Amino acid sequence: MTTSRQAIDAEPAVAGESQTALQTARRQLARAAELVDIDPSVVARLTHPRKVVEVTIPIERDDGSVAVYRGYRAQHDSVRGPHKGGLRYHPEVTSDECVGLAMWMTWKCAVMDLPFGGAKGGVVVDPKDLSEAERERLTRRFAQELRETVGPMRDIPAPDMGTDAQTMAWFMDAYSMQEGETTPGVVTGKPPVIGGSHGREEAPGRSVALVTRAALDYYERDLATTTVAVQGYGSVGANAARLLDEWGATVVAVSDVNGAAYDPDGLDVASIPTHDEEPEAVTRAADEVLPNEDLLELDVDVLIPAAVGNVLTAENAGDVRADLVVEGANGPTTVAADELFEARDVPVIPDILANAGGVTVSYFEWLQDINRRQWSHDRVHQELNAEMERAWDAVRDAYESRDVTWRDAAYAVALDRLSAAHDARGLWP
Ligand code: GLU
Repeated sequence: MTTSRQAIDAEPAVAGESQTALQTARRQLARAAELVDIDPSVVARLTHPRKVVEVTIPIERDDGSVAVYRGYRAQHDSVRGPHKGGLRYHPEVTSDECVGLAMWMTWKCAVMDLPFGGAKGGVVVDPKDLSEAERERLTRRFAQELRETVGPMRDIPAPDMGTDAQTMAWFMDAYSMQEGETTPGVVTGKPPVIGGSHGREEAPGRSVALVTRAALDYYERDLATTTVAVQGYGSVGANAARLLDEWGATVVAVSDVNGAAYDPDGLDVASIPTHDEEPEAVTRAADEVLPNEDLLELDVDVLIPAAVGNVLTAENAGDVRADLVVEGANGPTTVAADELFEARDVPVIPDILANAGGVTVSYFEWLQDINRRQWSHDRVHQELNAEMERAWDAVRDAYESRDVTWRDAAYAVALDRLSAAHDARGLWP
């Protein structure tokens, strides 16, 4: 098939640094497509989402007034299975951001060899501006507006920035009430009492810790003599920090929006409240507080950006002194920063592998929901360890055989699988 007459072209790559998630995702795809034997028409299809749904969400505020919010659900590719990905509540959510993040979900599911494709959605709102009752009304109405779009065999949302297990419980309840049957498999990341999986909440942070340990092992570094700085102390950052600390590493800095708690001799991370335990309390009892940007440039062995996207840029990548970067957040490194790290030989273990524990345990949750049988916490841990090891081995093999960056290696693994699936299914009709 020829691609000489594309009806829609990929957005041209931008030279500047102010990239959206979509621009970064497309540039990464274009670069990775050079590495694998893939039909250009498949690359052209993967450059665009399959569908983006935009909805209007009116809710009654507690004072009786009505506020109207905008929500999105972007579905990227479903060649390997139903769409899968989180819902975020954040003031900077845009349609393009959802598409970029949905693309990353497609690669993430393919790297992990999960039978899902990518999706992402969100509402343009600062959840801190809403009461709990308002957040519940917003979520229920959003679920109703997305009812035709989602479903356990179609598209399965999960928590992301600004949403949590309770959000998923409201979403599942609203969907189930309208469908007339309890449908736990419509979302993952629910509380375990209604079909959620044990270990789901901590899973992205656990996979970050597991992958950090595997990478240190690969570079023949000892965890016991490793120092770590973690940006962000939500579910991903806090769980990664606490596990690495438990396994013997020295976590010298962790941060939230107010700044970083820093102790060169190591912090007692178990006693620092996570965002869920007590929001924005990281620096409260700290002896030394650093600005968030300084955390990124600390002289540590491992840097884990686990807060928001685009924090490692052309401006600061040259000043990062860590020997290894492990991406806890989605898209923390811009393309220009990636190039600087590559030139400086600083390995960056990409988000689509490092934080993929979240969607992997989401897959376990979906299986448990379909089978109506809950797994033990131990079983979830064992299966997650096994899946992460399998994915790490596949990416490490690609890293060694192709002599590319870790990100390119992960993309090559994902694209090979997507390409094979697209070839086998062909183009309909
Ligand atoms: N929001 C998470 C992510 O970015 C999890 C998605 C899921 O479990 O479906 O990977």
